[in-house]
This record gives sequence, C-alpha cells and structure tokens, in this order.
Amino acid sequence: MNKQANLDQIMADIIQSDVCPNLAKTAKNLVFGDGNPNADIVFIGEAPGKQEDEQALPFVGASGKFLSEMLASINLRREQVYITNIVKYRPPNNRDPLPEEKEAFLPYLERQLDVIQPLLVVTLGRHSMNCFLPGLQISQVHGEPKRKAGRVYLPLFHPAAALYNGGMRQTLIDDFAKIPAILQLIRDSK
Ligand code: URA
Repeated sequence: MNKQANLDQIMADIIQSDVCPNLAKTAKNLVFGDGNPNADIVFIGEAPGKQEDEQALPFVGASGKFLSEMLASINLRREQVYITNIVKYRPPNNRDPLPEEKEAFLPYLERQLDVIQPLLVVTLGRHSMNCFLPGLQISQVHGEPKRKAGRVYLPLFHPAAALYNGGMRQTLIDDFAKIPAILQLIRDSK
C-alpha cells in the first residue's frame, strides 16, 4: 500500500471505530489532514474550528491564513507539507478539546506520523506539544528542536494565539525562520 492509501485506511478506521461519537454528532465533517503524504514536515494543531469543519480541511480560517504566510516566508507551500490536528472533529462552540478526546485520537495521529515518517514534527500550541512532550512549558522551549524516541519535534506557539499579539506574532515568525536550518541539520545527521 502507498502512503496515501495507508492514510485513507486510518481515516476509515476513525469512522469505523466511532471515535468520539459526541463530537462526531455535532461536527459537520471529519477533518483528517491535508497535504503531501511524503512531506518532510508535519504540522499539528489542536482541533478544527468552524471553517475547518465546513471545508473538512485543517487550518483554512484566520490562523490557517497566517500559517500559509509563514510557510511562504520560508519558501514552502501548503502542498509541500502535511497539516493535521490532534482532535479530528470540531468541538462545539470551539471549546478546548477534553483530555479524553485528545487521548482517543492520539493513536490515529501516531499512525499518521508512522506512515508519513516526516523529518520534523512541528507542534502548534501547548496542547499539541504536550501530547508528545508532556511537562514542558511552551514559553520556555518554543523554537527549540527536541529529539524523542526517533522523532524530532519543534514546539511553536499556536498561530491563533499570535494573530492579535504583536510580540508573539514576531516570535512565531522568528521561530518559523529556523525551520530550514533545523531540517538541514536533521538531513545531515542521517
Ligand atoms: N486551529 C487549530 O488548532 N486547528 C485548525 O485546523 C484550525 C485552527
């Protein structure tokens, strides 16, 4: 099976296993992920919002627009990376996903990463970071690559948090600018 077929199977398994039936009931769509299954970088957000739910695509609202701008600033297009969330259904009224919802989706997210095998996993926001790197404070480690169990993670602030906060916005842009050099280091160490 090729990578896309493997990803399609994971999506089918989420539906078949009726993961988070309460969220599935209130959401319009499953937002599984988008982008290149052969990507070097996977970006992981928290959960879909209203526009993502309507279009069944991650990061297509205001934070998605900012994410695309930051990708462009390092000469990347959305089609070259893979973008997903921990939780694949929109929580009602955009509430934070519950710990049990994150836990329920984590095995499927792990399977997505195992299929894609990216060089770098970029977590967006503290919820996404804490799924993989529990106990760390995003204010202290943002922009610092962390190696764990054969993967390299780069924790970044969430674009939504940075949208209306000039200081954090610049920090996120500066952290993004480190991505090409981090990727090169990873490639050189292979
Ligand atoms: N915020 C997220 O965490 N994910 C999305 O897909 C959109 C906004």
